[in-house]
Order: sequence, then C-alpha cells, then structure tokens
Amino acid sequence: MTRTTCPYCGVGCGVRVASGSIVGDPDHPANYGRLCVKGAALKDAVDLPERLLQPTLHGIATSWDTALDHIAGELLQIRDRYGPDAIAFYVSGQLLTEDYYVANKLMKGFIGSANIDTNSRLCMSSSVAGHIRAFGEDVVPGCYDDIEEADLVVAAGSNMAWCHPVLYQRLVAARERRGTKLVTIDPRRTATAETADLHLALKPGSDVALWQGLLAYLADAGKLDLDWIAQHVEGAKAAIAAARRAVPSAEAAAVVTGLDIAAVREFYHLFAATERTVTLYSQGVNQSSVGTDKVNAIINCHLATARIGRPGMGPFSLTGQPNAMGGREVGGLATTLAAHMNFTAADVDRVRRFWNAPRMATKPGFKAVEMFEAVREGKIKAIWIAATNPAASMPRASLVREALAACPLVIVSDAWATDTTALADVVLPAAAWSEKDGTVTNSERRISRQRRFRESPGEAKADWWMFAELGRRMGWAEAFAYRTPADIFREHAALSGFENRGRRIFDLGALSKLDDAAYEALSPVQWPVGLHGQSPPRLFFHGGFPTESGKARMVALACADETEDADFPLVLNTGRLRDQWHTMTRTGRVASLMRHTPSPVLAVHPDSAAEQEIATGSLVRVETRHGAAVMRVALDETLRPGALYAAMHWTDQYTSSGPIGKLVHAAPDPYSGQPDLKGTPARLSPM
Ligand code: SF4
Repeated sequence: MTRTTCPYCGVGCGVRVASGSIVGDPDHPANYGRLCVKGAALKDAVDLPERLLQPTLHGIATSWDTALDHIAGELLQIRDRYGPDAIAFYVSGQLLTEDYYVANKLMKGFIGSANIDTNSRLCMSSSVAGHIRAFGEDVVPGCYDDIEEADLVVAAGSNMAWCHPVLYQRLVAARERRGTKLVTIDPRRTATAETADLHLALKPGSDVALWQGLLAYLADAGKLDLDWIAQHVEGAKAAIAAARRAVPSAEAAAVVTGLDIAAVREFYHLFAATERTVTLYSQGVNQSSVGTDKVNAIINCHLATARIGRPGMGPFSLTGQPNAMGGREVGGLATTLAAHMNFTAADVDRVRRFWNAPRMATKPGFKAVEMFEAVREGKIKAIWIAATNPAASMPRASLVREALAACPLVIVSDAWATDTTALADVVLPAAAWSEKDGTVTNSERRISRQRRFRESPGEAKADWWMFAELGRRMGWAEAFAYRTPADIFREHAALSGFENRGRRIFDLGALSKLDDAAYEALSPVQWPVGLHGQSPPRLFFHGGFPTESGKARMVALACADETEDADFPLVLNTGRLRDQWHTMTRTGRVASLMRHTPSPVLAVHPDSAAEQEIATGSLVRVETRHGAAVMRVALDETLRPGALYAAMHWTDQYTSSGPIGKLVHAAPDPYSGQPDLKGTPARLSPM
C-alpha cells in the first residue's frame, strides 16, 4: 500500500493506493478518508493515453542529452549576449516543492534573474500580498479544524462545494452537528450559496465596501477588542477611520454593493455577535484588480475583533492548486526569494551565501502578465514553461500565443501535449502524478508526501531532474548534484532555518536532518516545525507577527470605483466546473468526469438574454476588447442580471472558438499582479 496525496486541489487530501484501488486515507488530517468526485476517479486518471514519451527538438524526436545540451548552450549564449533577464521560467502549482526549489535556485541564484513566476500568480498571489501587508509574511494563521469549530463560516468569493469539496463536506458535517451558520458572498448563487443561511449576491468587485462597512459597524457597535488591538495591532485607528469615511453605515454598504439593506444588516449583526467566525476566501477575492485590498479588508475585521489563531476563528485563504503553497515557500513567485525571504539586501546576501550562488538576483522579476508581455516585446528571448498551459489559461491568451510564436526559444515540459506545447521549440516529457516523488503543502500549511507508485512511460522524467540536469550542463555541477528528491528537501528545509532566529515563521529547520528513510516515511506535518517537532496548528493569537514591531498591521483602504465600459455593458465572469481541473489535460481524459458538463456553454441571465431575444441553446457571439467567441447559451438565473459566466477549462481541443482565456482582460492588481479574471466587460450578439 502506498500513501500519497491527491494531485488536484489545495485541500491536499491523503489517498491510499493498493491493488488497483485508490481510496481516501482515513489517517490524513486534511480529509480523514473523504474524497470528492475527482479524487474518487483517480484510479481512472493514471495510465491515460497520449502521453508525451520522448524529448523533441523542432518537432523531431531526440535524446535527453541532445535536448538538454541544446537548451544549456542556447541559454548561456542568450545570457552572455542579452543578460540574465532575457531568460524566464513560467512554472506551476502542479509542480512538487522539490521541482520548484531546483527551478527557483537555478534561475535566482545561478542564471541570475528573478524571472521565475508561476501560474499560482493567477490563483492566490493577492492572498500572498495581503498576508505580507497584514502579518509581515505569507502565513495562513489557522487550520482546517477551525472550520469545524466555528459557529459562523463566511465563504467570500468561494464556491467551496465545487472547488474545495472535501472541506465543504467537513463544513456540512459540522453544520449538522453544531448548527454552524453559513454566509456566502458571491455575485452568483453557486452550489455553496444554495445551502447558505444567507447569500449576499453583491455587485462584482464591491467586496471591499462590504467589509469596510462591517469594520465601521463593528467600531460603532463597540465590538472591537481594544485590549488585543493595543497589544498586537498597528494601524487600527487609520484603518477604522478610512472605513468610516468610505462606508459609514450598513445603508451606505447596501448602496455600493447593490444588496438589500436587511441582508447587509443581518450579516453585520451575525458577524458582530459570533466570536467563533472563520472567513474562507478564494478566487472571487483573489482574481480581482483590487484583490489585495479585498484580502486586507477581510483580515482587518478579524484583527479588529482578535478573531485569529484561536479555535474556530480566523481569516483563511483557500489555495486553488495542490502545491501553490509549496511554490510560495521555495520562492516560486518572481516577487519573493526562497524560504519566504524577500529582496532585501540582507536576505539576498543570506540566500547567496547559503547557495554559494555566483549570480544572485537582486530585484524582483516579471510577474506572469508582465512576463508574457516582455516575451512579446522581445525583452525575453527564452522561456521554459513547466506543467502549465498559458496559451489557454492566461488572460489575453491570443497575445500569449503571439508572444510564444515570436520567441526565439520556447521550452515546454509537460506530461501531455497542450496548446502551449504546440508553440514550443523543445518539448520535454514530464513524469505525472503517480510517477514522481516529493512533497506538497496544502492550504493549512500541511506538508504531505506525494509518492511514486508506478513507472513513468517512455522517457518521461521528473521536473526536478530536468532543471538539475540543465544546471549541471550550464556549468554548476556541484550546486545541482542532487540524487533524489530527499536531497532537495533537506536543502530546502536547511535554507528555511538558515540564520532564521525567529525572523520568519516559515521554518522547517528541524526536518533538514531527515535521512532518506525518514523522508520516505514523512507523515503529514504543518509548518513551522520546531526543533522538538512542535507544529502549531494555529498562529498569532499571542502575537509574534514577523513585522518590525512584532505587531500585525490593519490597512487603511479606499473603495475603488467600478470601471465601466459603455461599449461592453455586460460582465464576463470565469471559474471552475465541479469535475474538471485546469485545462483538462488529465480530467478531460477521464470519461466519468466528462459527464457532469460535457461541452462548453455561456451562462446568461434571462433578463440579458431577453433584451436581445436570445434563447437558451442558441448560438451567440460573445465579444470583449480582447477577442470573440461563438458559444452556446444556457439561461441561468443564478447570475446577477448583466452577468455572463463561462468555465475556464475548455481549450482548442474542445471548442473551435478557442479558450475562454482569449476573451479575458488582464487588469492586474497593483500589489500582487494577479489578473482580474472575474470581471471582463463584454457584449453579446445573436447569431
Ligand atoms: Fe482531491 Fe481536492 Fe477532491 Fe481532496 S477535495 S479529493 S484534494 S480534488
């Protein structure tokens, strides 16, 4: 029997593999044996057809030696001629922590640029920026048990019934047991909203105003924890004053958000009266041009009421991908260094000494949207894309395709052919889930092993091996002399503890001495991991924020005006289907997962459809400033009038109109660089 971790979402459920069956692991603290539809279909997702089996160079099969020597030679030439910033890696929350660590070390310490960013930029980078603003470091303060110990759960921009289904199952069980109230904040009446005690179908983008109004209400109602604030928080006065100025009352919040005043009052009253409150938030909060402000508006309310780091309380970012957290930990974002360090002179020097790095990056690199713009502008001459499909999933996907088509060297490592491999000069066959070994970190800071239980087909290899081989061939044999993922994990853990002395919460120093057998047997563990193995499930109630003052920061926020586009009066929202994952390279090949929604549709509110005499099932042309597509209409009363909704998964393989990403604007958040995938101005015309 092999214990491993589900490869799909950030819940990070444990699974057991034995004699052809894959079942939930009853001992894994994320799921205690539960699985969702995708997890339950995992046995049908191994041994899938159409794998990439051999490296190719300009479409011709070649050996690993030839492919890697070619890449190494080209990258060295580009670096010497144009400088290190002419090279970029675009990686993925699907990578294991060990893969991510080696890619990040190669780029930031040896090639000498911080141009490594990840598709997690599209998923949770606003939460990262919000955590850093509030806590001084990207730290999730609570744990999954809090969802079961809360009396009120607020799901903000989070359809957890579909996107984090096992956590939703845990919430449903808790509601049956203790009557937990559920409030959802979402412009759509999602599957989660259907079961809520209160659904706030606010205007897209107006979340900050709703939370600012709550902060003002809590202050006026005498519900702040002034002693705790005095001891552990700075900036409270300014943040509360800003909230009172922007949204002085529940009435004002109702006007800005378009909500019924009674519903706003009910939410504010419930929050004020319920100490054990957890606020869960995911892409409806993060994927916004004001995503970081939304995150801080939520955290402000929890800090002001001391509802953090105690059982059943806390702001809680639900991560989308299985290892977005692990990527954050090793510095997979262009804006951070490894081990939660930043681009301060002291941190750059610390990492340089630890790696004995010849060319340390000293400043942040391009974030995802900027990175593909830099490719299009010719600033980046070579890009390696690992385990992700930006030609379909990035906003303004047509521009991404143009950029890649014009780029002198595009390398793509993946397990299956995608829209992006079609644009590559070099394609490298990657090992998939079930064939690779390493670790992932889930949304509650819990590190779990992914374990190999079958051989890779053809010549597919682990991503860490590819990046280490490239490093060796570029001249850094000693620095990349890893034999196994255990070697990499030990180094990653040692770096996290290197000269840390309590500076950073992220510390795995105690795991740096694991021998191979102990790494193999590693049980799921939450970071930080103290010297004596302590692994606190909750952080911060007693202070200890990793800021200069040791206090958390409440952030004074303004409420941005909604941008409107008279020529494109509707708003296109994008999101997930229950049974699909990303651009369907794996889930699209599993017959049972295709049954739920077998083809793409554009959901349109009946009022918007009636205005243009559009009937359900008919074809329409949907158009934005970035592209157009012909789609079949499904009338959908769960939307707000004026809203459109389309799933983000469909690619060229499934629709002649191309991916929905080609319609979506970028509109990145100014702090996180996360694009706004939820609010593209759009219009419809009947066909
Ligand atoms: Fe996998 Fe997420 Fe489902 Fe758990 S909830 S089984 S991690 S997809």
